[in-house]
Amino acid sequence: MSRMVYVDGRYVPSSHGVVSINDRGLQFADGVYELIYFSQDHFIDGKPHFERLRYSLDALEIPLPFSYDTFTLKARYLMQLNHVTEGLFYLQVTRGVCVRQHVIPTAPITPTVIMSLKPWRMNFFQEGAAVFTMPDMRWQRCDIKSTSLLGNILGKTISDRKAGKEIWFTDTQGIVREGGASNAWIVKNGQLLTHPLEQHILSGVTRMRVLKLAQSLDIPVIEKPFTLEETYCADEAFLTSTSNSILPVTTLDEREIAQGTVGPITHQLQEAYQQFVSKEALYD
Ligand code: PMP
Repeated sequence: MSRMVYVDGRYVPSSHGVVSINDRGLQFADGVYELIYFSQDHFIDGKPHFERLRYSLDALEIPLPFSYDTFTLKARYLMQLNHVTEGLFYLQVTRGVCVRQHVIPTAPITPTVIMSLKPWRMNFFQEGAAVFTMPDMRWQRCDIKSTSLLGNILGKTISDRKAGKEIWFTDTQGIVREGGASNAWIVKNGQLLTHPLEQHILSGVTRMRVLKLAQSLDIPVIEKPFTLEETYCADEAFLTSTSNSILPVTTLDEREIAQGTVGPITHQLQEAYQQFVSKEALYD
């Protein structure tokens, strides 16, 4: 049976979920998205995801199509239609349909809204992953969660072809910005480091959650740029994202970090995150 999806106010089998060829999402990747994990019909950190959607839409002058409450009502209905209680929920909003022109149309158009989901179980990885690095060739507004992901696609493919799990993008000074679909972290002398928020990185919801968990665990944390060289000789490294939660990184560009072992702070954060997901988040 074909999975049900939501397209512009209608719940339809995915094979019938169509948008116009004049949709600006197709013509220009003129749209934004969110990927949200849900468990027992509840979004985990749903509100921060929705706030980031609002931020991305505002930055592109696309109107917010609905409130958080309306979104969750529609989303829950889609979960029920598909009989899926745990999975990944995809929400995409494009500027809408209009005759092709680069400039944002002055006449108001209705955003296109697409929602779909897939069953998925959260993994709390015991094994470390291989990550490769490359100079960041993406645009300068990676704080916007745009559907335009060509740089990320190319970078992740380069890594994948070398059996890497993720690509980490570096700036011209050799500073690690973020991953192709994740935020980057290292641990040095008991202190956690991650890149500060600015326009070259996405404000990861998992990043925000891990910052809070680290504080509650009294793990010193500092939002400060770190270099490739610092990463090669870090005590621990990991990445965070909605779909990979907290994934230990044990090799970078084929060099072992901490002799290829998963470190204690990474383990501690993984445990705390797992507890957060199974308890508090369900009552968010
Ligand atoms: N950076 C990029 C480029 C991403 O695509 C993602 C995944 N959405 C992240 C960081 C991590 O964000 P989150 O924790 O909200 O999934």
